[in-house]
Amino acid sequence: MKHIITGLTLSLWTFSALFAQEQKTYPEQEPMGPKMTEYWTPQPKVVTPGDILTNTAPSDAIVLFDGKNLSQWTNGKGGDAGWRVHDGIVTVDKSKGDIVTRQSFGSFQLHLEWCVPQGITGSSQGRGNSGVFLQDRYEVQILDNYQNETYVNGYVGAIYKQTPPMANPMRKPGEWNVYDIIYTAPVFKEDGSFLYHPYVTVILNGVLVQNHTEIWGTTEYIGLPKVKPHGDGPLRLQAHGDKSEPISFRNIWVRPLK
Ligand code: MG
Repeated sequence: MKHIITGLTLSLWTFSALFAQEQKTYPEQEPMGPKMTEYWTPQPKVVTPGDILTNTAPSDAIVLFDGKNLSQWTNGKGGDAGWRVHDGIVTVDKSKGDIVTRQSFGSFQLHLEWCVPQGITGSSQGRGNSGVFLQDRYEVQILDNYQNETYVNGYVGAIYKQTPPMANPMRKPGEWNVYDIIYTAPVFKEDGSFLYHPYVTVILNGVLVQNHTEIWGTTEYIGLPKVKPHGDGPLRLQAHGDKSEPISFRNIWVRPLK
């Protein structure tokens, strides 16, 4: 009899426990509504775009050259930039060396236009050679590759001696070429190696030639890329020592990116 009562009690207790468990409730999952995946701040800043037909600068750009003077540039050695400004453009003076921006930049969007003179002579790398050095050390090549071949990782639109361009959309001498360059600055580890490489996207005359391309280090003429930690750096335009007639630039502006 005692066993029966004990067994019954145990069964009742088990039943009660199970029942209690079944009764336990949790909050209902909130139904998903459209506003749950929408956010309103911070609003994008209003920027007045330039005229895309004439490539004028947008309202928040730093204008580096507007055809009037080289006040935003130096010779990189403490003196003024010595290239010749005329007719709203600036022409490279190879005897005066490179020119370098007074300001330094981290990541940025850069616009610049350049023109190879009609009747230019020379071949391969010796024909309209220049370049734009990002943060003063990573060269995006400028070269007259209109009906002029050279080593592919030295072409116009190349990350010099690293990555060839995906196309050659050069305009012929006498016409203006347009570069739009989006650059992401590198981050370094304490030991001086890259935590994040620099990256660059390059559009030449509306054609994508570098698509978020990893930069391996400095763009050396001789030898492999070097990796040296650095902070913000200026832009440098190259006065290459080739024997060909000098190229010209116009309409240069940059938008630093946070
Ligand atoms: Mg060059």
